[in-house]
Amino acid sequence: MLKKVPVREQDPKTRAANFQEVCLGYNEEEAVKEASRCLNCKNAKCVKGCPVAIDIPGFVWQVKEGNFQEAAKIIAKSSSLPAVCGRVCPQESQCEGQCIRGIKGESVSIGKLERFVADWSRENGFVPDKPEHTNGKKVAVIGSGPAGLTCAGDLAKMGYEVTVFEALHEAGGVLLYGIPEFRLPKEGVVKPEIENVKKLGVKIETNVIIGKSVTIDQLLEEEGFDAVFIGSGAGLPMFMGIPGENANGVFSANEYLTRSNLMKAFRDDYDTPIAAGKKVAVVGGGNVAMDAARTALRLGADVHIVYRRSESELPARAEEVHHAKEEGIIFDLLTNPTEILTDDSGWVKGMRCIRMELGEPDSSGRRRPVPVEGSEFVIDADTVIMSLGTSPNPLISSSTEGLEVNGRKCIVAKEANGKTSKKGVYAGGDAVTGAATVILAMEAGRAGARGIDEYLRETRTP
Ligand SMILES: Cc1cc2nc3c(=O)[nH]c(=O)nc-3n(C[C@H](O)[C@H](O)[C@H](O)COP(=O)(O)OP(=O)(O)OC[C@H]3O[C@@H](n4cnc5c(N)ncnc54)[C@H](O)[C@@H]3O)c2cc1C
Ligand code: SF4
Repeated sequence: MLKKVPVREQDPKTRAANFQEVCLGYNEEEAVKEASRCLNCKNAKCVKGCPVAIDIPGFVWQVKEGNFQEAAKIIAKSSSLPAVCGRVCPQESQCEGQCIRGIKGESVSIGKLERFVADWSRENGFVPDKPEHTNGKKVAVIGSGPAGLTCAGDLAKMGYEVTVFEALHEAGGVLLYGIPEFRLPKEGVVKPEIENVKKLGVKIETNVIIGKSVTIDQLLEEEGFDAVFIGSGAGLPMFMGIPGENANGVFSANEYLTRSNLMKAFRDDYDTPIAAGKKVAVVGGGNVAMDAARTALRLGADVHIVYRRSESELPARAEEVHHAKEEGIIFDLLTNPTEILTDDSGWVKGMRCIRMELGEPDSSGRRRPVPVEGSEFVIDADTVIMSLGTSPNPLISSSTEGLEVNGRKCIVAKEANGKTSKKGVYAGGDAVTGAATVILAMEAGRAGARGIDEYLRETRTP
């Protein structure tokens, strides 16, 4: 009872050469056994660790009893993307990090149980109830990532007529173009969850760039929308500003992953070009860096992750770091690039780096990395992928009169209800916080739906 029921995974050697899902999840028997480890605590700490406050003891109890559909209904009250969250949420620092079982042994495997329930309900054709009445009010949602989808789903459940506008040709945001297939299958997992949001009555219009095709002011003044939610994410990559960064063979992780995930460069039947590289250096230590590194590995490269702090500061999910190591990715920790070296034709031929040591804590509370004098060395590389974080694209803020942004180009919005400086306009997710997590974006989408509902109730004529 002290240990989690182990989850089945593809063998590291096999999976390093394919794009199929790494984790195979629990079967019914394993799920019931794992659920039986839950103590069904009265004052359940796991719920406090969940940003959307799923009734975890409630759904886990139903799994233990074999009532999987009841479990799915309980989760659906708080989350519209459970198969996604069960796979990509950082559970170790959220619900599982708080689980009482974790004090003496391993916490209950809440994420894997959530994933099991979501997969079971999809495979067994369980669909969410469509709201019976609409209230005649129209809301536009910008962006179809987790923030936009959650806001749209919640508003549809309240009876609003919701249209999601998405710039790309497919819906899903980072779930579709960022997180790779081997962590989050698109056809089997992401698309069915988006279909469930559509089944609530939400319309999704793709290939519409708000700020170019149509502005927010036009949506409100000419297109008959009563309110707008902005969930446009943070898709603009950052670079280091070191010499050689413009060389051929230097990518942002976003571009690299989009080519592979959305434009299917990893499949032989697609023509999308991607520089597969033989020796790839990925700079950064977050989930995005792990995804880029593991994608490059699967495309046939030897891969190094170069990160300026130590292992304990790696921001990626523990499971991703563990999987990356198992697959053979080399971690150059306490290492910072100073220059990208090029050959006579301008292609990457290496990356000069310097060793770092940890000094005093900085404003983030983490110990500041400090260069060790005279410790420069060169990593042999023909491709460099920069994964240093992203910021919101300024297109929406620059095309919307009266929408306040902060110094990082993030939209200023109230956490409790997503209210921005512009009347009738609400915002949430990475567009407000900068790059964060799926569940925080979902929480913000939910808050935005509440804010819009309050606003439209106030403005509704009796
Ligand atoms: C590679 C990668 C791996 C990640 N791994 C994890 C993980 O394991 N766990 C985790 O919790 N989080 C992870 N994250 C972070 C997480 O995916 C994001 O925090 C989350 O997707 C943010 O949701 P969002 O809805 O705010 O924005 P997004 O998911 O970015 O969606 C925004 C959408 O808005 C659209 N859009 C932008 N501008 C416009 C416009 N002008 N008009 C119309 N549409 C527009 C975009 O095309 C996009 O589809 C990862 C991120 C990346 C990039
Ligand atoms: S804290 Fe752990 S043991 Fe207690 S209810 Fe939550 S999952 Fe179950």
